[in-house]
Amino acid sequence: MKIAAVNTYVLSADLETPFAYSQAWYATRMALIVEVVADHGLSGFGEVYGPPRPNRGVVEAYAPLLVGEDPFAIERHWQRLYNHLRDHGQRGLAIQALSGIDIALWDLKGKALGLPVHVLMGGPIRERVRAYATGLYRRDRPDHEAYLREEAASYVEAGFTAMKLKTGWGVAEDVRLTRALRDEIGGEVELMVDANHAYDAVDALAYVRKVEDLDIGWFEEPVAPEDYDGYREVKAGGTIPVAGGECSFTRFGFRRLLGERLVDIAQPDTCAAGGLSECKKIADMASAYGVRYVPHCWGTGIARAAALQLLAVLPHNPPGLFATEPLLEFDMSEHPIRDAVTTEPIVQEDGFVRVPTGPGLGIEVDRATLERFRA
Ligand code: CA
Repeated sequence: MKIAAVNTYVLSADLETPFAYSQAWYATRMALIVEVVADHGLSGFGEVYGPPRPNRGVVEAYAPLLVGEDPFAIERHWQRLYNHLRDHGQRGLAIQALSGIDIALWDLKGKALGLPVHVLMGGPIRERVRAYATGLYRRDRPDHEAYLREEAASYVEAGFTAMKLKTGWGVAEDVRLTRALRDEIGGEVELMVDANHAYDAVDALAYVRKVEDLDIGWFEEPVAPEDYDGYREVKAGGTIPVAGGECSFTRFGFRRLLGERLVDIAQPDTCAAGGLSECKKIADMASAYGVRYVPHCWGTGIARAAALQLLAVLPHNPPGLFATEPLLEFDMSEHPIRDAVTTEPIVQEDGFVRVPTGPGLGIEVDRATLERFRA
């Protein structure tokens, strides 16, 4: 079997209700889907997290290195593609595009062998994963507390036992909304917060000191990804665990975050940090350094399936009868493409999601959706 083609699909969908996080407003959701086609017609799909159009260009730059090659030699391809742009890449677009190709190669291999990716990677260690709801974004309405309370209550009603609030609206506003949310969901449901690096260490710690009594699960991206000393200060200066890593790439990028213990929870995005091959390596490094691993996941059902295949093989850290289990980030914000791109949606039940057990990523891509949302 040889690789015959590498196809890309840039997808776009307008939102009914635009929403914001601390850095920008969203009025559309986009996705870049990568398809690796084998010469006998079988396809594998992957997804890229990052700006779709520039990333499509990078995938197209890698494609000639793959055509005619053995699709099963995934590790060889990873090293070759990484090295191809190494002098100009190492992170960002170069690794995001590589991630989508790597995931598509794993999907293709699994489909060719009739086995799910997590079995090929040595699993399963677990067959279902507890999900936390990502949502609680800002809307273009003045009554922020009211709609956030409603939305949080809907997640509890849906069975979620954990959820994440978007912060970064200024310390006073963040404190007010965090208190309101904790009041709304009570003490039993886990609450995490995510500033998307809106703060410097001074404001991040000012916020931490004012909400330390609220049992916050983690404070995600308190400061800019390049501000390693800021991470160190926020971690040392407060009692809320610090999470980060969705803007970091490869084992080389995570070496410092893990080795210097700058985060308590590492959050590589499988569709950005290097794909399934590389994220398994980062996860094993995290295990060696005693750092938790909870993948960032904010794409379509393809990204969600890839995250689940990895989650199925994440090592317990540490093992034990009551070991702390990794979580699946379950994006609940509006995304018209997310469930449409697979023939069966990936759903949560009582706050848990089953790891797909079909071949490859365990999903079937709906080709009509790829055409319907094509940008
Ligand atoms: Ca985040």
